[in-house]
Amino acid sequence: MTDVYVVKQENYNKDEIKLKILQGLKEIDFDLNKVKNNAKILIKPNILSHHPPEKHVTTNPVIVDAVLDILTTNYKNKQFQIIIGESSGVQLRGGTKKAFETSGIKEVAEKYKVKCQDFESSKKIIIDTKGLKDEYHKKTLAFAEELINADLIINLSKMKTHVMMEYTGAIKNLFGLIAGSQKALFHAKAPTQQKFSEVLIDIYQYANTKTMLNIMDGIIGMEGNGPANGIPKKANLLIMSDDALALDIVATNIMGFDSIKLEFVKECLRRKMNPFPIQQKGIPKISIPFKKAFNIYGKAPTFIYKKAASLLVLNPTINHDKCKRCQVCLKHCPVHAITFANNKIHIDYNKCIHCFCCHELCPYDAISLERKIDFISKIFRKKEVKKVESKNNTK
Ligand code: SF4
Ligand code: SF4
Repeated sequence: MTDVYVVKQENYNKDEIKLKILQGLKEIDFDLNKVKNNAKILIKPNILSHHPPEKHVTTNPVIVDAVLDILTTNYKNKQFQIIIGESSGVQLRGGTKKAFETSGIKEVAEKYKVKCQDFESSKKIIIDTKGLKDEYHKKTLAFAEELINADLIINLSKMKTHVMMEYTGAIKNLFGLIAGSQKALFHAKAPTQQKFSEVLIDIYQYANTKTMLNIMDGIIGMEGNGPANGIPKKANLLIMSDDALALDIVATNIMGFDSIKLEFVKECLRRKMNPFPIQQKGIPKISIPFKKAFNIYGKAPTFIYKKAASLLVLNPTINHDKCKRCQVCLKHCPVHAITFANNKIHIDYNKCIHCFCCHELCPYDAISLERKIDFISKIFRKKEVKKVESKNNTK
């Protein structure tokens, strides 16, 4: 029996959140007193790139604040050695450092004298994923030493839809444990949902060798074209479990997915990681449908995805009026499909593997996702605009 605690929380009031997390710890029977004194605790928020909290792309800093308050006040005698770590999407020129600041998490960390560690400048330790079947990352994962040394991981994910993977939550948040350029390599070599799920579950299997506490910020999540450019969605929920897979299954069911059909869940089950039966505590049944991201690209089998699916899939498209020519997209494209010529950014669609990193990371929202067949794109865009308009009118 795996416990998942789901509780209503309608705002980002720290004291209320703290109480709910403390209650959640009891409900899922997670006793921080059992964690050894001086234990090394790695807090892993979701800091995708440079987004302020009000965009609802990143884990809200108040959640981090509540967790740090619990660790340093309620368990003061334990003298935990806490670090907040992340390898965000923006790895160049101190990208994650800056993202820590923009997200508001650095300010919270400073209040508790806790260090924010960007994993791109961490010492990397190569882990052999012996026994796991895949050929594209040579059976090794490059992790930051802060992960390797951690006794406990506190995984603070955000409840969002995702253009490539359909959903991002507890397990997907662990992708940010990979240090440095290997993240881009995985995007390049594992372009389908199925292949990328294999990478994710390799990472999860390693993280799972540690004790894990998973807390999801579902107070305001994101629907539509997440993880960065969707629409904020007020789900008013906090979700907790010591099992990231069980948490994701519960969260995706709430959001209206058929959980066990999601590729990353199937990959877990294929590897005999079975969290069932799951006991949903707090609110035992709740449905808050999230508008899905439209993308069949990640779902297409590798052998056809560059051909048959290419007309229907979303393509990153530069809005030259918005583009500030910062070249963040160019520097992060894992397959070098983006170039800068004649003072403009260009995308070579023959090279593009549709990882959508450029779309996620553009700091000026200058990359939209469009379909090649214009009329299909227009129909969907009109529908999308209508839905957003009618939603706004009903507020
Ligand atoms: S598209 Fe965005 S990330 Fe790329 S150069 Fe323009 S502003 Fe920068
Ligand atoms: S152009 Fe954008 S979506 Fe295409 S491979 Fe490069 S980063 Fe990924």
